[in-house]
Amino acid sequence: MGNNIAIICSGGDVSGMNPALKHFVEYTKANKLTPYFVYDGYEGLIKNHIKEASYQDVAGIINRGGTKIGSARSKRFEDAKYRQIAKNNLDALDIDMLIVLGGDGSFRGLHTFYKEHGVKFCGIPSTIDNDIEGTDYCLGVDTALNIIKTSIDAIRDTASSFSRAFVVETMGRDCGYLALITHITSGSELCLIPEKKYDLKNYEEKFIQEREAGRRYFLAIVSEGIKQNSNEIAQWFEQKIGIESRVSVLGHIQRGGNPSIYDRLMAYKFVAFAIDGLLDGKDESVICYTKKGFEYKSIENVAFKKKTLDEELLKYLE
Ligand code: ADP
Repeated sequence: MGNNIAIICSGGDVSGMNPALKHFVEYTKANKLTPYFVYDGYEGLIKNHIKEASYQDVAGIINRGGTKIGSARSKRFEDAKYRQIAKNNLDALDIDMLIVLGGDGSFRGLHTFYKEHGVKFCGIPSTIDNDIEGTDYCLGVDTALNIIKTSIDAIRDTASSFSRAFVVETMGRDCGYLALITHITSGSELCLIPEKKYDLKNYEEKFIQEREAGRRYFLAIVSEGIKQNSNEIAQWFEQKIGIESRVSVLGHIQRGGNPSIYDRLMAYKFVAFAIDGLLDGKDESVICYTKKGFEYKSIENVAFKKKTLDEELLKYLE
């Protein structure tokens, strides 16, 4: 086993990647390894955009969202010809261990790479959607939730002043985690997520009665993955509940911003576990965080299964 190890950010960036890069440099050096950065995801592997990392590279980045080394999706990495080029580039630098901060797609990419070329890797689940099977937590989720919280607190101020219904749309692809946690912690009146069937009719009488009893505003949190779009929910408020309404799509602000304390701490722990695992002979694994703590799980149990929302959490929608 060589002493050279590289880190890559792949797929959607999250807040928490920069603290992870910082600790990667510190922890590898403490373990007498030589750290490398691969810039711009798997494209960087193909383009040979791989550089030895120094303390200076990670100075002053712990408080910054996004990732200093860039992230990307790479169509070319899906082609064996380009993976061979990536392997040649790693060989030229004597790198045989990779850490990837990404989602299940990125892990599947390295799984293919490992099967073909034997390059060892450890995955760190990183996506604000929190939709990776096997882990309760993905890097970036806490910061995203805090950004949503700040936005909703501000929206509540204007909703109450103007007597309006606000439909706030959160990210999450097919996973309603961000919307559900936001619903629970913001005290919203309505939450619609892909995992739970709904019929707006069931809310009409209740909401109209609440209006008559003096309710001035409504907050509805909807996940981007539901069948209807947010404008249709807003129209329903206007037509059936009789209240002026507005839509606020939070969009990419959820992915950026100053990393929360929890994400900084989790970034440090994920990175330390990833490096320890590779040094300990775990050739192909993903670090998962569950009620049992940190665990190394196989790719099959993480990247090839669909995540379902925790039943305990779903009860909050009943
Ligand atoms: P995420 O990691 O956020 O789920 P993607 O699904 O877009 O992101 O995957 C990121 C990258 O991983 C892709 O652009 C591609 O380069 C690589 N990848 C995904 N699946 C495979 C695969 N089966 N074989 C090779 N590369 C893959």
